[in-house]
Parts: sequence; C-alpha cells; structure tokens
Amino acid sequence: MQYKTEYLNELMTTVVKRNPGEPEFHQAVSEMFESLDNVLPRHPEFIKSGVLERIVEPERTIKFRVPWTDDKGNVHVNRGFRVQFNSAIGPYKGGLRFHPSVYEGIMKFLGFEQIFKNSLTGLPIGGAKGGSDFDPKGKSDNEIMNFCQSFMSELYRHIGADVDVPAGDIGVGGREIGYLFGQYKRLTGNFNGVLTGKGLSYGGSLARTEATGYGLCYFTSEMLKSKNKSFDGARVVVSGSGNVAIYANEKATQLGAKVVAMSDSNGYIYDPNGVDVAAVKDIKEVRRARIKEYLNYRPDAEYHEGCSGIWAIKCDIALPCATQNEIDEASAKILASNGCYAVAEGANMPSTPEAIEIYRQNGILFAPAKASNAGGVATSALEMSQNSMSIRSSAA
Ligand code: NDP
Repeated sequence: MQYKTEYLNELMTTVVKRNPGEPEFHQAVSEMFESLDNVLPRHPEFIKSGVLERIVEPERTIKFRVPWTDDKGNVHVNRGFRVQFNSAIGPYKGGLRFHPSVYEGIMKFLGFEQIFKNSLTGLPIGGAKGGSDFDPKGKSDNEIMNFCQSFMSELYRHIGADVDVPAGDIGVGGREIGYLFGQYKRLTGNFNGVLTGKGLSYGGSLARTEATGYGLCYFTSEMLKSKNKSFDGARVVVSGSGNVAIYANEKATQLGAKVVAMSDSNGYIYDPNGVDVAAVKDIKEVRRARIKEYLNYRPDAEYHEGCSGIWAIKCDIALPCATQNEIDEASAKILASNGCYAVAEGANMPSTPEAIEIYRQNGILFAPAKASNAGGVATSALEMSQNSMSIRSSAA
C-alpha cells in the first residue's frame, strides 16, 4: 500500500520493521493509515505531536506461561497474552481469545482495532486484547477450568475494575468467564467488575450474550435504510456458528430475513428453508458439537466440507461472523457476481483489503467491524457501570 502522505509511508515501514512476522497487525495499521491519508494534510499537529507513533505502539504487552493438567494427569504448557494497547480515554477493555492460531500478532491486531471501536461507542473505555493459543475444542469442563484458573493465576495481577476489564471472544464464553472470575475472586478477595460477560446471577448484564449479533443487525438495518432496503425478504449468509453468528441469525430472522447458510471451521450448512437457529443453539451452545450435525435436525439441508465455499451461496446480504480474513478477493468477487448488495462485519477484520476493494468497485454497501460489531463492547461498558454501582440486572 502506498499512501499520498509520505509521513505515513515512512511510519508504515517502521511498523513493519518493528513488528516482524505479524501480518495481521500490519494489515490493521495499514487500513487505519489509509483512512487517515486525506486527514493528515489538514492536521499537521497530529504529525508534530507524534500521535500516530504513539498509537501504533502498545502501552504494555504481557506474555506469560500457562501450565495446566489434563484429565489424564498430563501437563501442558500454553502461552498467555494481554496487550494493553491504549488507555487514553478509559481503562483497557477488550476480549480474551482462546484459539490455537493465537500469537502476539493476532493479539496486537485485535487490540489495535479495539482502541478505535471502543472510542467510536462514545464510552470511556480504552483498547486491549488478550488470550492464549489454548484450543478449547474437545476439552472437558474440568480441563477448561484447570486452564482458566492457571491463566488467571498470572493475569490477575495486571487487571482490575478500573485498570483493565477483559471479556469474551473466540473460544471464551460464559463458562470460561465464570471460571476466570471465580479464580480472580479467590486470588484477590475482590468481588467487582473485573470481567464482563458474566452470568446474570453474579453481575452480568441482560442481553450481553445477544449484544454483538443483535447490534450487527441493527447497524446493518440502518445502513440498508440509506438505500431503501431492509432485511425483510432478504437472503442472508452468516459465517460462523458461535456467539456472534447465532445472534446475528436470530435478529436477522426476526427482522424478516431468511438466513440460508452458517458454518464452523470444518464446513458449512445450506438450508434453503432458512437455518433453524434453535437447532444451531442446541448443537453449539448446549452440546458443543460440530455444525455438520445440523443434518440430524434438518435432513433436507446440505453440509459441505471447507469454510470458504459458503461465500458462493447466492445471497443479498453477507454477515461474516467467524474470524479474520475469511473473505478474500476471490470470495468477494463471487459475492458481487451473485448480486450481494451488502456486507456487514460481525467478526473482526473478516474482509481482506483486496475484498474491500471489490466491494467498493461493485457498489456493495460495507459496514466495517469497528462500527458494526461494537454492540457487545458497548453492553460490556454498561456491565462495568452496573458493577461499579452494585446494581444487578433483573432477569428478563
Ligand atoms: P465463538 O468462539 O463463539 O465462535 C467462533 C465461530 O467462528 C465458530 O463457529 C468457529 O468455528 C468459527 N471460527 C473460529 N475460527 C475460525 C477459523 N480460523 N476458520 C473458520 N471458522 C472459524 O466466537 P465469537 O462468535 O465470540 O467471535 C466471532 C468473531 O466475532 C471474532 O472475530 C471475534 O473477534 C468477533 N467479535 C466477537 C464479539 C463478542 O461479543 N463475542 C464482539 C466483537 C467481535 P469452530 O467452532 O469450528 O472453531
């Protein structure tokens, strides 16, 4: 990427040099610089005061060993991270991701994006991200608990209700937050709002589970309205089948859309009658099984191995809700040629820069993640306020 502003070219070269082998972080910074290319010439004071040099460098990166024992008594060692990127406007806030692909570059890209997303909400929260290369798939509840307790045994000294407030992300939902919070209390003796995404009975906020997926659809509805379109009667493809994807499906369906496909990291299902979200909840939230099992609930549906094929299904609206860079240039071209007129990001950075260029060339409405998936973190900020005031959400 070449910018018109020479200062940005030089700074981008420095970022790549200083953070070798971290392409996702380079991509996130580069996207931000692209949007600043027309702004900086009008604001030389930003250059003079080194705002960008400061914002691309995390305030602090914590990296630690996480030893834990499986059910057979074998010891495993994973890596834990917390990147406290920026606290200019409030305590650090951002999720924890447990996935084998996690390394420092992924943490930095997510933490960097979180600064801007959080700031856009207008709420007083800084940006951070954390997690581990631990793979929760196929682990027993006991193993997940052992891991979470070990993870928190180091993390607890770096976080706090007014310091840094982690939440969930890929592989970290209500169960994991519960184990992490329990260990935090045990180590510190404090019952406070140090984590969000907690259960309702111990300080969680109503609708936090639904917030990111629902928020994505509300944002998308507003975007569609600008072109006199709506979810009503639209064919929608939602990638993923986790927290964000499930509630994006639920809300899009409530708004009159037909969600015809969903996926996990093994493959995707196609159900021309509309994906039954209750079945997906049972598979993913209750049984923690694979999306392939949807065929046991709806034998007329189809299952296909591999994730990227989902973008070849004809749709009006695409909601990528799985992971980074899941829509590349080739997939974006197929979406465009099939008449897709809107892409709204539930996942963080799910579109590659080349895919975004294809959206632009084809006049596809595009909702970038920093704006469209902020419903979850905004509700988390509400949970933080409720916890500070010792106010509980009543059950719905
Ligand atoms: P979950 O762990 O609940 O679900 C993730 C889903 O994406 C699963 O279906 C998973 O499949 C799939 N997936 C994960 N990694 C890959 C991969 N490498 N390739 C293909 N599919 C993959 O996570 P969330 O729903 O919480 O998060 C999804 C996205 O939304 C992430 O990008 C996250 O950063 C973003 N996000 C989440 C928020 C939240 O409130 N939870 C808030 C804002 C953004 P499998 O089960 O096979 O791994």
